[in-house]
Amino acid sequence: MQSPIDIGSDSLDYTNIAPPSIAYRESEFYPENTGWTLLNFTDAESFINWNKCKYRLVQFHLHTSAEHTFNGLRFPLTAHFVHSNTGGDLLVIASLFDTGETNHILTPALEAFKEGKSFILNPSNLLDTRRGYFVYSGSLTTEPHTEGVTWIILNQLQKVSQQQVEEYYSIFGKETVRDIQNLNGVSVKFFGEISEGVDTITGYLTPD
Ligand SMILES: [Zn+2]
Repeated sequence: MQSPIDIGSDSLDYTNIAPPSIAYRESEFYPENTGWTLLNFTDAESFINWNKCKYRLVQFHLHTSAEHTFNGLRFPLTAHFVHSNTGGDLLVIASLFDTGETNHILTPALEAFKEGKSFILNPSNLLDTRRGYFVYSGSLTTEPHTEGVTWIILNQLQKVSQQQVEEYYSIFGKETVRDIQNLNGVSVKFFGEISEGVDTITGYLTPD
């Protein structure tokens, strides 16, 4: 099963596995330019726990536009937090951003990207698990497209300004997005509350 995918409200099952509990530390991140993005590595003891398993944060990176879509709707930016457990299993948490106010948490990272320097960040401030999440087993969206990657896509949008999106875009001057892959009948699971009168997943994604 390959990633990214379109998450449609008609292909959703439910899970009772609680959202990841996030224990990241404020730490130094070291950007590494791959030619398509900056992978921001950390040596910090930053962990998450999910489904009785502990994973360490290895790196995070951004994509313009977002890679996963929701009933065809694509957001302008996503952050991918890549984790590994002691068995080498990969788990990626995706946080999606819609345009609005300036995101001051991202500001130091964006400044550092332009200068090619390391930066200090507590990335837990870019993740909000309170509105639940989507989960499925997919792949890396870049080569070697390794499968067996657990994807957790948070159901709460973050804000980013249009200017910040353009700043990041201008570093590479191109979209860093893999095409949507065929679902092949895979089940995407959702953990969260269903509100009355909200009939699409994108409805759940509307920020407060
Ligand atoms: Zn990614």
